[in-house]
Amino acid sequence: MLKNRIIRVILQRLAFMVFLISGMSFNGFSSEFCVPDTSLTFEKYEAFLRELKDETKYKVVPLHQFRQTVDTSRIIVGLKHDVDNNLQRSVDMAKVEYRLGIPATYYFLHTSSYYFSNPNDANSRIIPVYKTFLQFQNDWKHEVGFHSDLITLQLIHKLDPVDFLHKELDYMRQQGLRIYGSAAHGSPYCKSYHYINYYFFEDCSKEPFMHFVNLNSAALGNETITYKKGRMLDFDLDYEAYFLDNNKYYSDAQFIGGRHWNFDQADWRRLKTGDRVIFLVHPEHWLKVNTMAEFVDFHLPGQTQNTEIDVFLRTIQISYPKHKAMLLKPEFRLNDTVSDVFFGTQYVFSGFTELDFSKNVEFVVKTRNGKTTKTWNLKIHFTPSNEAEIVELHAGKRMKVFIDNKARQVFVETKARRKPEMLRLNYSLSPGALAFLENKPQKEARIKMKSDTSVILSVLAEDGLTRNDWLISAREMKVRN
Ligand SMILES: [Zn+2]
Repeated sequence: MLKNRIIRVILQRLAFMVFLISGMSFNGFSSEFCVPDTSLTFEKYEAFLRELKDETKYKVVPLHQFRQTVDTSRIIVGLKHDVDNNLQRSVDMAKVEYRLGIPATYYFLHTSSYYFSNPNDANSRIIPVYKTFLQFQNDWKHEVGFHSDLITLQLIHKLDPVDFLHKELDYMRQQGLRIYGSAAHGSPYCKSYHYINYYFFEDCSKEPFMHFVNLNSAALGNETITYKKGRMLDFDLDYEAYFLDNNKYYSDAQFIGGRHWNFDQADWRRLKTGDRVIFLVHPEHWLKVNTMAEFVDFHLPGQTQNTEIDVFLRTIQISYPKHKAMLLKPEFRLNDTVSDVFFGTQYVFSGFTELDFSKNVEFVVKTRNGKTTKTWNLKIHFTPSNEAEIVELHAGKRMKVFIDNKARQVFVETKARRKPEMLRLNYSLSPGALAFLENKPQKEARIKMKSDTSVILSVLAEDGLTRNDWLISAREMKVRN
């Protein structure tokens, strides 16, 4: 008995070491500005499943059969999938497993946005989603389980977890889902308030695990909230997934050397006959690789027309105003999120990486399976500028000039004199623009005017369409004191 207890504690520890260091909002990038983790691809997962098909070596069972399965001549495997956010990725994975004849268990999370539209409202079930849950069970032959976030439900969403679980399991079962077990979800709140969601079950909260010390209650601000609890039996549940009798545990939520644990790691290949192992795989971390390596969208800030993308010629055509600064951060989308874009050897992040577009630009798009590399050419058509501004104006020494770009006025400040003086003004315009004084084109960018008058300088942009009239006038400098 004591030995079993020690083993259980060690196992929990193993499982929750992983739980502790897991990234809660991981989405394929180890961090926003690092090169993405390319180890988690559907292809690698499929290769792993193909290995599991070797029935002389492995016996793969849904988790509700894990404890009952005894076979010392093989390795017992349970595939556990927590569906935290992305239901579609789980659908994709479930189909791959079904095609290869490998059963798995999918735990659906009631506090996720695909399941309840409002986590504070127990009546906000998204009904059509149950159809999909049923497909997991009936069409793809997987076990469906409850991914429990019940303590969070009470502490944060202020719902009665006992009542909620009764109603939700009743509803699921009425729909035809066979729910045998639950698996605790590692909510970010668990870290803040030091609890584990399986503490909801009296059966699973005999002692706290590591620094998740809040076994029966937690303090939120000044308020101490005592958990409402239930027994697994009350809900007709057979097991909690963290309390199965496995001796090994691997999880893609674990980081090794800054990367997610994955099936490239050698450790799982050292499994021995008689081992009982659970693999936790979050389908949403795993990427479907395709071989297209295509841009579906490309945009430069300030471009003048829509982008034209030709997937056959692999060209991107963009119109961009002449004379503008060309150090820009392109924004783009690929036909899937699993290809990477490079500019030379530089990794390009959409909206973040600044590149020089004054020359022709070539991008290389690589799929993560390494099978496809495509080179794309970006062609920029420079369009005439539509800017019709006075950029600078000089009025000689000791005279100050104020350019008001909004009102399109220029003031030249002169010293107070008895007689008006003659001003000689030199100006420069937006690139390619022309100036007119009383409809006469001005070849030399110079104006002569008396200090008691004003002139209107018409500036026509390079595009020949945009015209701004600028009022240039002199005013006397205010004498201080
Ligand atoms: Zn989870």
